[in-house]
Amino acid sequence: MGFRFPLFYPQSDLGYSTPPMSAKIDVLISEVGPRDGLQNIDSIMPTEAKQRWLQAEADAGVREIEVGSFVPAKTMPQLADTGEIVKFARTIEGLTVAALVPNFRGARDAVAAKAHKISIPFSVSATHIQKNLRRTHDEMLQEVRNITSMLKDIPAADRPHFEGSLSTAFGCSMEGKVSETAVVRFAEQLMEAGCAEVGLSDTTGYANPAQIRRLIKLVRGAVGDDKLTGVHLHNTRGLGLANVLAALDEGITTFDSSLGGLGGCPAAPGASGNIVTEDLVFMLEAMGVRTGIDVEKLLSVREILLQALPNEEMYGFTPDSGLPKGFTGAS
Ligand code: ZN
Repeated sequence: MGFRFPLFYPQSDLGYSTPPMSAKIDVLISEVGPRDGLQNIDSIMPTEAKQRWLQAEADAGVREIEVGSFVPAKTMPQLADTGEIVKFARTIEGLTVAALVPNFRGARDAVAAKAHKISIPFSVSATHIQKNLRRTHDEMLQEVRNITSMLKDIPAADRPHFEGSLSTAFGCSMEGKVSETAVVRFAEQLMEAGCAEVGLSDTTGYANPAQIRRLIKLVRGAVGDDKLTGVHLHNTRGLGLANVLAALDEGITTFDSSLGGLGGCPAAPGASGNIVTEDLVFMLEAMGVRTGIDVEKLLSVREILLQALPNEEMYGFTPDSGLPKGFTGAS
């Protein structure tokens, strides 16, 4: 069985400025450690170390990195240098530079820093969206519309790709079960509000493979296959890679992960954060799915994190065990 997933970003009315990929890959790994990982730890990584991290991952073949979040420095001092980091990352050839934007203000700053891609988190859970973004669903949708109008005024070549990320889509640590009907409805509303695509985020690590398959089918049925191409998974309960396989079978082509599973989970001591980039790339490459990433080079990037964040936990099985004897990746 060969993998024939086309790699593309859905074309939107807004257009986008994502740089063209060079060599052919089947699956896009989007490294989110510099954002999701760092925002969930206490240590503050020096800007210079972040820059070395981004450069080293790009050198290993990683083509997209979410480098930070445009939030007030007071709220998240770990990500206070996001503007500077975006500017630096834009100098790395062939790298798609993504950033999280919680609101209009953040989107404006991301545009000024020239991010290729911006994602706005939209929690399906009403409690979660209120607690994390201090907005109701309606207020958040208005924020999305405001961002859309701002983006329309930007020349197509400089306009970032705009994604609505449906967080807590598989369950919420405050509300518990999240309605699948609500996920589908918000996916449609985000598209109507001007997003170029939506993503499904298992913010809390609640998802299981059956649920992943079902929700991808439901959302794609509502907004179109090409408007849902990525998932954001956590490994809180050890189901991360099983969920990746389920999503891969459904035709998902973009996976978020973080190096060393950095970040942990504040609600579950000892649990890793996002799925581990090293293990994810190893699994895919071993299966013959091309990520464009050199696993050995990727494993050596860990050194930068171990040095810069000596007090933080790093996860992953492949880094501990090493690659199997005679291993050759697909890329
Ligand atoms: Zn996350």
